[in-house]
Amino acid sequence: MSRVLIIGCGGVAQVAIHKCCQHPEIFSDLMIASRTKSKCDKVKNELEGKTKTKISTAEIDANDFNALVKLFKEFKPEIVMHLGMPYQNLVIMDACLECGCHYLDTAAYEPEDVNEPVWKKEYDKRVKEKNFTAYFDYSYQWGYEEKFKEKGLIALLGCGFDPGVTQSYVAYAKKHEFDIIETLDILDCNGGDHGYPFATNFNPEINLREVSSEAAYYENGKWIRVPAMSIKREYNFDGVGMKDMYLLHHEEIESIAKNYPEIKRIRFYMTFGESYIRHMNCLENVGMLSTKPINFNGQEIIPIQFLKELLPDPASLGPRTNGKTNIGCIFEGYKDGKKKKYYIYNMCDHQESYKEVGSQAVSYTTGVPAMCGAMMILKGIWTKTGAHTVEEYDPDPFIDALNKYGLPITESYDPIMVE
Ligand code: NDP
Repeated sequence: MSRVLIIGCGGVAQVAIHKCCQHPEIFSDLMIASRTKSKCDKVKNELEGKTKTKISTAEIDANDFNALVKLFKEFKPEIVMHLGMPYQNLVIMDACLECGCHYLDTAAYEPEDVNEPVWKKEYDKRVKEKNFTAYFDYSYQWGYEEKFKEKGLIALLGCGFDPGVTQSYVAYAKKHEFDIIETLDILDCNGGDHGYPFATNFNPEINLREVSSEAAYYENGKWIRVPAMSIKREYNFDGVGMKDMYLLHHEEIESIAKNYPEIKRIRFYMTFGESYIRHMNCLENVGMLSTKPINFNGQEIIPIQFLKELLPDPASLGPRTNGKTNIGCIFEGYKDGKKKKYYIYNMCDHQESYKEVGSQAVSYTTGVPAMCGAMMILKGIWTKTGAHTVEEYDPDPFIDALNKYGLPITESYDPIMVE
């Protein structure tokens, strides 16, 4: 029996809420708090009568530390699941420390305004020192390690699919399949079709920032930077078929490189169709992906936020998306002195997800691990306090929970490797 507070009520949060409500013996009291309270009330109304979980809702501006503290002190959650925007990770972590709650999120901190001078100075220093240019990095949240430890609390960072499950796959491969892992390719394939010429499957702002940024991979202890979308491969995905995929920088590369220094090369690939890339390039060329405020008719607007208003809401794609996702990790390394390959992945069907929880598979594959991660903490299975990413915890109970609650693994011992 636990009190759980979820921040955000978008695509990912709605799945997590549905999944938590399937386990009222653990998630007995749930508060949904977000910027637009009507969305929280809608989900509450849909679920009431179908679950024993007691649901309440609240309006919150997650940028407001005092408002967060007031809400947490009133509701007294054991854990806060932050499923809103990564811009608010730090202020929500501060409020959790103040109120004695565990913390979980699904994306690494990045600032909303990437031109903010104090942040920009630190960023420029990091680009020089570490040689990667993504706006997100884990240093800010790892900086909370001691504070969470001192209070006996856990901050579970990046517990979606990628980041999240992919790191647990690495811990699982190391525990059961390899003595030494030499190379890792994380492959994220969305074989779904929503019928729109252009839409993103999760928050458009975060998605478009990630994809249009300079790419990077990790090799022999160094970051190698390459222009966005400049490395392309084809891969034949189980359940999906042949797809073009592109190398991107992704946050779990940073934590895996830190926690598994033996891995010589870590790359991340994501599939994109031609139409997506054509639209994205065009939007970038005309300045629509910019985060710099501009003045329009006497009002300040941020182009990418304006674009988000025009694009389909990812939470609305469920009924019209068909096909499957296939996300997993391919490893090469050694076991008992012999060279070995191993591929572990999950396939998730968009329509099956929609039938179960009313959402497409990209939200499903993120919301289910968030629920399972919270479950690991609330059941006292994951106990390491401090601020940690998923690969730092025992993968077995987590993967068991994923297998049971909607994201089963498939394994291959003879995968086609990525060139
Ligand atoms: P959505 O845009 O659908 O939802 C975001 C939610 O956060 C909305 O309900 C929004 O409110 C709320 N919100 C935004 N700003 C505030 C604020 N200041 N105060 C309170 N609430 C706020 O995003 P998704 O559900 O697609 O994504 C959620 C998170 O999950 C993102 O961080 C994304 O990067 C991450 N993600 C992680 C993945 C993984 O595998 N690890 C995969 C996919 C996503 P409103 O309704 O008013 O807009």
